[in-house]
Amino acid sequence: RISEVDEQVHAFLHVNTEEALAVAREVDSIRAAGGDDAAALHPLAGVPIAIKDLIVTVGQPTTAGSRMLEGWMSPYDATVIKKIRAAKLPMLGKTNLDEFAMGSSTEHSAFGPTRNPWDLERIPGGSGGGSAAAVAAFEAPLALGTDTGGSIRQPGAVTGTVGVKPTYGAVSRYGAIAMASSLDQIGPVSRSVLDAALLQELVGGHDPFDSTSLTDSFDTLVSAARNGSVEGLRIGVVKELGGEGFQPGVEARFRDALEMLRGAGAEVVEVSCPNFRYALGAYYLIMPSEVSSNLAKFDGVRYGLRVLPKEGPLTIERVMGATRAAGFGEEAKRRIILGTYALSAGYYDAYYGSAQKVRTLIQRDFDAAFAKADVLISPTAPTTAFRLGEKLDDPLAMYLNDVATIPANLAGVPGLSLPGGLADEDGLPVGIQLLAPAREDARLYKVGAALE
Ligand code: GLN
Repeated sequence: RISEVDEQVHAFLHVNTEEALAVAREVDSIRAAGGDDAAALHPLAGVPIAIKDLIVTVGQPTTAGSRMLEGWMSPYDATVIKKIRAAKLPMLGKTNLDEFAMGSSTEHSAFGPTRNPWDLERIPGGSGGGSAAAVAAFEAPLALGTDTGGSIRQPGAVTGTVGVKPTYGAVSRYGAIAMASSLDQIGPVSRSVLDAALLQELVGGHDPFDSTSLTDSFDTLVSAARNGSVEGLRIGVVKELGGEGFQPGVEARFRDALEMLRGAGAEVVEVSCPNFRYALGAYYLIMPSEVSSNLAKFDGVRYGLRVLPKEGPLTIERVMGATRAAGFGEEAKRRIILGTYALSAGYYDAYYGSAQKVRTLIQRDFDAAFAKADVLISPTAPTTAFRLGEKLDDPLAMYLNDVATIPANLAGVPGLSLPGGLADEDGLPVGIQLLAPAREDARLYKVGAALE
């Protein structure tokens, strides 16, 4: 399937054919032999998976979608990759993304965009457009993504797939190249809610290699997904995540979802999160600040690319300058410069400090909303997939895609996007987002399975 369609879709940056086939054959022979070894196989053993190329893997390149890491090979596996190997899921390869996961369309990849399998002239979302497109195009039944401001959920929405950002700390970030460490989270991409639950349960759990990793066990996700129900649950519609800027066809499918929930025995209530309107502003200060710090290590000395200045003395500073000028794309540079500015002496309180206060207000909005509702609901993205190139020259228009997904990252709460049907005006997939309190990921799977 990859060799049939990926020339057009371009979901993959690297295809790992030999190793994947070897793992698949090994699982086949264990199953054929039967007995204890076959019985001990993980339910996902033999199910192929694609990996976002921000997650480090031994034996396959990891580029983060950047020239900076072109040709670089990680000497170690991410914790999630160790778990995938142990459970014997064949890894199909590494999927395309916006450079260092910064973007909403996958157009900021240094290796060319991924296209949406529903319409090849449209974007597959971002930053994890490669993982979502691979699943939507039936190139892989499962994929892993990372979500800092929506990069699992928004690609899921615009490609008609399921994407989950777990509670912050529920899945180890060890081996996920850091974008904004206080927001980043690894999570599953799949075609069904149950598949996502199986994958999150497999890759999640406490990891001493990630100091922000939770000790909770998250072992009821699969049973929640198998027992979908909303009977007696209060579902809160977030007033601020709709209306102006939201495409009519997106809102229509969203109303259908509410109808379904009511029909299935849920109580639909309205909740207000007044500080969500500042979320995008706070995110685009906090995120670039952390980016500017995390990306400082790509200095031409420690990893990947090294470019020597064409003339003049060979000082370390000049090598760093030449390497970073050549290695980072425009969007990465924009965010490094923004973040460096926001953190600079004299501006800290006005920008980063204020943004952190807004973050607290958003957390309080969630607390108040979850006092009235068990799960919150909204459209995942304000529009269906837009055309390639449409927003490339307008960073603010691009950033607006994230209005509905960003609050969850700022508060650390889990979010799940699932397909909600097709918009009438363009026939493209619409995503429905569910949000739950921190550590209550199981609730998302229970409600998601009922809505599916
Ligand atoms: N689209 C958002 C951004 O550009 C989210 C990125 C992400 O979740 N990695 O920052």
